[in-house]
Amino acid sequence: MSESKKFLLNERDIPTAWYNIVADMDNKPKPIINPATKEPLKAEDLFPLFAEEVSRQEMNTTDAWIEIPEEVRDLYKIWRPTPLVRARGLEKLLDTPAHIYFKNESVSPVGSHKLNSAIAQAYYCKKQGVTNITTETGAGQWGAALSLAAKMFGLELAVYMVKISYHQKPYRRNIMSTYGAQVIASPSMSTKAGRKIITERPNYQGSLGTAISEAVELAMSTPNCKYTLGSVLNHVSLHQTVIGLEAEKQMEMAGEYPDKIIACFGGGSNFSGIAYPFMRHNLAGDTNIQFIAAEPESCPKLTRGVFQYDFGDEAGYTPLIPMYTLGHDFAPANIHAGGLRYHGAGSIISQLLKDKKMSAVDIPQLEAFDAAIKFAQAEGIIPAPESSHAIAATVREALRCKEEGKKEVLLFNLSGHGLIDMTAYDSYLAGDLENYKVSDEEIRRNTDKLEKII
Ligand SMILES: *Cc1c(COP(=O)(O)O)cnc(C)c1O
Repeated sequence: MSESKKFLLNERDIPTAWYNIVADMDNKPKPIINPATKEPLKAEDLFPLFAEEVSRQEMNTTDAWIEIPEEVRDLYKIWRPTPLVRARGLEKLLDTPAHIYFKNESVSPVGSHKLNSAIAQAYYCKKQGVTNITTETGAGQWGAALSLAAKMFGLELAVYMVKISYHQKPYRRNIMSTYGAQVIASPSMSTKAGRKIITERPNYQGSLGTAISEAVELAMSTPNCKYTLGSVLNHVSLHQTVIGLEAEKQMEMAGEYPDKIIACFGGGSNFSGIAYPFMRHNLAGDTNIQFIAAEPESCPKLTRGVFQYDFGDEAGYTPLIPMYTLGHDFAPANIHAGGLRYHGAGSIISQLLKDKKMSAVDIPQLEAFDAAIKFAQAEGIIPAPESSHAIAATVREALRCKEEGKKEVLLFNLSGHGLIDMTAYDSYLAGDLENYKVSDEEIRRNTDKLEKII
């Protein structure tokens, strides 16, 4: 076995096609439906809002491989292929017989995996003659990635950022401005939705729901303008599969094969990205890898949510999506892993979970930070609070291996670094953070409100 620490590919090894797992699923996800008519949507129904090609990708249930455009692959070369790393330091610290590997997506210029889809989405907008794009951002990672992608393709980007984050978390706002995006504190006076809220509640500090309604309104009312989303949807997960496709080749270089694959879970894009390319071998009956999604204890849609049609957003503007959900009214605690505070999961993941092709665990906030500090001290990389949930789940598995005296190969996705989240670390080290366990009543209160379509 190799004593190497890092497994590196060449530019020519960047995948030439994304993997669309839906084509290989026996049990396809239920369709996305129109909330009024309950009729399944067609790709064309999404054209007013999204780029046409990503709308087609969203609905594609037949093509397992979708070619990555040359322009997109060229831009991926800025930081891809990303390294696969054997976490020997962490193995030693935990004194575990397990072999731990991680795919390091934190090396992208914006520090997370989100650029994989941002570049693809900006490309398809540009290709069909779109000049302006919009989005919303809470924690700011998606906004930062899209700001860079928009600049690369000469698109004007307006990012609606929840007002309280705009004022309290200036660094990602600064990053977006540096890349040339227009960042607007939401609610704003630039949309009808924003003006209405500001006149009714002048001191309102904003919410993701309001920011989405502003971004959508601007896209729908501006010629040549499209809206974009950084997680949850099928096409976003599709673009992220470059992670797993590269990791497959790199595990081969390492001469090992993963027994368990682990990733943190917000809307599911980085989990899908690392998991689906390996899962295709499980679906074909050739392997028996276990897939584990690590979600926060404060927002446990996969482990404690219901499987039902729900809106993708807080405000109820999107079509209805079949998903594991806590209800779109669910208000997650203000944990530091902002990117994991989402009420539902995408339709593909939800079907795979329902069919037991994968499993999920929920991680308390303090356990995530404890694992993050271990990882930082053992491997040198300060992980994003989101990624720390994957690390904590991996640590659990590695310690179980130790207890059972069993060697397993564990692979997790390091979705991003935490260098812009140091106030979170500061709070943790000062002892100011706590766990937030959700009560069954609270979950029921929100999920009982959902229309029983399934
Ligand atoms: C946005 C984000 C996540 C969560 O989103 P997914 O779509 O579930 O991957 C996780 N990690 C990082 C670093 C993020 O920026």
